[in-house]
Amino acid sequence: MDDLFVRIINGEIPSKKVFENDKVYAFEDINPKAPVHVLVVHKEPTENINDTGLDKAYIYSDLFLAAREIAKKLNIDKTGFRTIINSGPDSGQEVYHMHVHILGGKKMQNLV
Ligand code: 5GP
Repeated sequence: MDDLFVRIINGEIPSKKVFENDKVYAFEDINPKAPVHVLVVHKEPTENINDTGLDKAYIYSDLFLAAREIAKKLNIDKTGFRTIINSGPDSGQEVYHMHVHILGGKKMQNLV
């Protein structure tokens, strides 16, 4: 059975699309943690960073180049934004399909 994000990409589960190209699909997070909270999902599913090695290094560039375009499109490139990839249990990863969170639209607390 396809994972949740594959079903969203395929339109089986509705989503609020923000951006799409042949590599990635991006949509609003259902439980936003900031005024802008977008998930950028790769169309080729890998689980997370642990599962995405040198042979699939293009996945990182595809995701982050799309994040860069999306930040511009949503006018948060100048004010600033945070990108997060969760990998594994301690990170709180819920969906094991590689994705980048884009958070912006407010001043955020430093985490690191
Ligand atoms: P993770 O914890 O795996 O890094 O992030 C998964 C994200 O997917 C969470 O922020 C969660 O709110 C979001 N999410 C879970 N189910 C859905 C859904 O059905 N639709 C949308 N738009 N977001 C979802």
